[in-house]
Amino acid sequence: MTDFDAIIVGGGLVGASLAVGLAWRGQRVAVIEAVERSADHQPSYDDRTLVINAASLNILDNLGLLPEDLTRKPIRHIHISRAGGLGHLELNAADYEQDQFGAVIVARELGNVLLEAMANRPGIQSFCPARLQGFKVESDRVEITLEDGHSLSAALLVGADGNHSRVRELAGLACQKHDYRQSAMIFNVQPQHAPAHTAWERFTTQGPLALLPQSEGRLGVVWIEQSERIEHALNWSDQALCERLKTRFGGSLGDFSNPGRRSHYPLVCQRTPWPVADRLVVIGNAANAVHPVSAQGFNLGLRDVGGLIDALEETADPGDPDVLNDYARARQADQESTVRYTDTLARAFTNPSLVASLASGLGLAAHAGIPGLSRRLVRSAMGFREPVCTLARQPRVST
Ligand SMILES: Cc1cc2nc3c(=O)[nH]c(=O)nc-3n(C[C@H](O)[C@H](O)[C@H](O)COP(=O)(O)OP(=O)(O)OC[C@H]3O[C@@H](n4cnc5c(N)ncnc54)[C@H](O)[C@@H]3O)c2cc1C
Repeated sequence: MTDFDAIIVGGGLVGASLAVGLAWRGQRVAVIEAVERSADHQPSYDDRTLVINAASLNILDNLGLLPEDLTRKPIRHIHISRAGGLGHLELNAADYEQDQFGAVIVARELGNVLLEAMANRPGIQSFCPARLQGFKVESDRVEITLEDGHSLSAALLVGADGNHSRVRELAGLACQKHDYRQSAMIFNVQPQHAPAHTAWERFTTQGPLALLPQSEGRLGVVWIEQSERIEHALNWSDQALCERLKTRFGGSLGDFSNPGRRSHYPLVCQRTPWPVADRLVVIGNAANAVHPVSAQGFNLGLRDVGGLIDALEETADPGDPDVLNDYARARQADQESTVRYTDTLARAFTNPSLVASLASGLGLAAHAGIPGLSRRLVRSAMGFREPVCTLARQPRVST
């Protein structure tokens, strides 16, 4: 049986980032991934436009995962508005002594970088396509079996296997779930004119809408609405889609044209209050899955990665229960508040009652009008939540 320091089940965005980070710290890592990279349905590395916040950019940079040729569009201005509401909020990075709030990167392109890093860095062995079947915990090892009959062992088992985590399920970790009965439809589109380096978030009673800068002046659209309405929207003609986008967003960017391929995702909230068990931890979406309204899911997962790398820094045994419990305690406040904040936002802005809509509008206006509050929110939205992991503190501390 082949033995490792850590076995990571799930080689998606979060699992692959952790593999690179652990290998960088000299650990021997196995990555078990169910879906081949070349498969059209690879669930992690698709056409999603990801807003990667400043703390996450630091983490990726420090892991050598932001090569020059990876296309990233900086976000220097954020425009938040509410259809028919009272408030709107404009944030400029320069007002917070920042060059950018974060950047937009297409998940598929980041996936290419991650896969290349996993293939080339010593210490990482990939098993793909391969699926976890089960595991058993011995005193100082976890032994796992794959569906093809292979067995592997390690000091630590990490579940980075997404929303329907088999690792979480087999470990019996309690997970609270909420189905929003909403879906996100994503596509990119050409606006008639759009200021550079700007991201727009618009809240409507049907659901939020985000427009994010992409290459060649195009915008990535994240359109969120009740799932049955999204089912219809997937079948609209391109022209109808562009017209309805303009109706929903407003006319400030002119007409939209030439939309790309549409994909959709059902939206859930999941919270695993205590993500560790005997020689085991779940991270990323396997632990906490959030509504994309505030673009926090992968960012939260990357902070799990940074937190785990810090926790394992001083230990000879990566599966040491005390170390894992320390990790869970250190990550608890960030995980809890990110899930709660995102869930509140997702529910508040779609509440049709007048009172809630008034409160939401005033809330935005209040954020814009109280610089101290706004500054705190901005720093937290940029991913700098205490305790800030070592990799997030500044770009390129060491590699
Ligand atoms: C529309 C949309 C927009 C988003 N925008 C943003 C954004 O702007 N910013 C942001 O930070 N986040 C965003 N997110 C969230 C982000 O995409 C997720 O948080 C992130 O993809 C989670 O990564 P993960 O690796 O934890 O899980 P996943 O991406 O689900 O990856 C899990 C991996 O595990 C594999 N797997 C599953 N089961 C097994 C098994 N039994 N054995 C082996 N392998 C297995 C899967 O094949 C997959 O590759 C968005 C999400 C959506 C839906």
